[in-house]
Amino acid sequence: MSDDEAEEEYLFKIVIIGDSAVGKSNLLSRYSRNEFNAHSKATIGVEFQTQSVEIDGKEVKAQIWDTAGQERFRAVTSAYYRGAFGALLVYDISRRATFDNVARWLDELNSHSDTTVARMLVGNKCDLENSREVSLEEGKSLAESEGLFFVETSALDSTNVQTAFEIIIREIYNNVS
Ligand code: GDP
Ligand code: MG
Repeated sequence: MSDDEAEEEYLFKIVIIGDSAVGKSNLLSRYSRNEFNAHSKATIGVEFQTQSVEIDGKEVKAQIWDTAGQERFRAVTSAYYRGAFGALLVYDISRRATFDNVARWLDELNSHSDTTVARMLVGNKCDLENSREVSLEEGKSLAESEGLFFVETSALDSTNVQTAFEIIIREIYNNVS
């Protein structure tokens, strides 16, 4: 067997969950295409983007799934979660209700996946400092008590978007390798 054939391949499914309009689709489009859409509409059908990153000299492919807006109807199905190695749980720092719902999303995630799934809490829209309703400390402390990674991001100005995905991908890689 040649060295090429002996090389391992990694493909990780990651799901993005959280309330409607917290910025899930824009986090993905910022990360995968460096695009932001101020008037993004829910698309039809489940979508994912595949992103390749190099870790320890190995090619790792992250298949990142975005909801098609079904979270509005609390209708994210088990098929969406199936086979996921990681999850980004997103809230909007300018809307407290989306933070209050994190517990519900965690329950749903836990009921559809086992505990080895890497989990990250993401407080998005940190560019909206003037209308902030959830402090950085509250986010941190929730993440700590639930054993989640945590970061605040802005899909609008790109703050920490790459970092968020890289942390979760690296954690998954560490879990499986
Ligand atoms: P989703 O329903 O969770 O997929 O949210 P979207 O990505 O569709 O975003 C919902 C709305 O929030 C859109 O109008 C986006 O332009 C806006 N948005 C998303 N991310 C950010 C951000 O980081 N900052 C600001 N200010 N607006 C954002
Ligand atoms: Mg969306």
